[in-house]
Amino acid sequence: MAIERTLAILKPDCVRKGLIGEVTRRIQEAGFHIRAMKLIKLSKEEAEGFYEVHRERPFFGELTAFMSSGPCVPMVLEKDNAVADYRKLIGATNPADADEGTIRRLFADSVGENIAHGSDSIENGLRESAYFFAEHEIVANG
Ligand code: ADP
Repeated sequence: MAIERTLAILKPDCVRKGLIGEVTRRIQEAGFHIRAMKLIKLSKEEAEGFYEVHRERPFFGELTAFMSSGPCVPMVLEKDNAVADYRKLIGATNPADADEGTIRRLFADSVGENIAHGSDSIENGLRESAYFFAEHEIVANG
């Protein structure tokens, strides 16, 4: 399997609940290498830009209001098969449908406020990483 890059975001509910450390520990224990990480509060416009593909969805306003409601923690992760493995670690979008032991099942309250984001393809992993980090901010071999 090839080394892939994926963008994780610890969403504002994760930060509000004091779970940055807990979720980051689980990510690292699952074998992901953190190549970049920061705390940032998105503007509504920045959240809309990030979720542009969902603009026509009924939950777009709710989603972008939530994502700009407080600080979040984007991080670039690398690992063999990172995109699929990270989505497996966080679980299904709706925590009620997520497998036991997944991050969303353990910590999320609802489909809207579901603790963590993960890129859904290799291409989006690269594009989304670039949305938050300049290439020189991504550490090659941390
Ligand atoms: P994922 O984050 O699992 O890739 P999607 O790309 O389908 O899921 O949706 C992006 C985000 O939009 C979700 O993580 C969730 O925060 C929000 N979302 C998705 N579906 C709904 C919904 N039905 N109601 C409210 N928010 C939703």
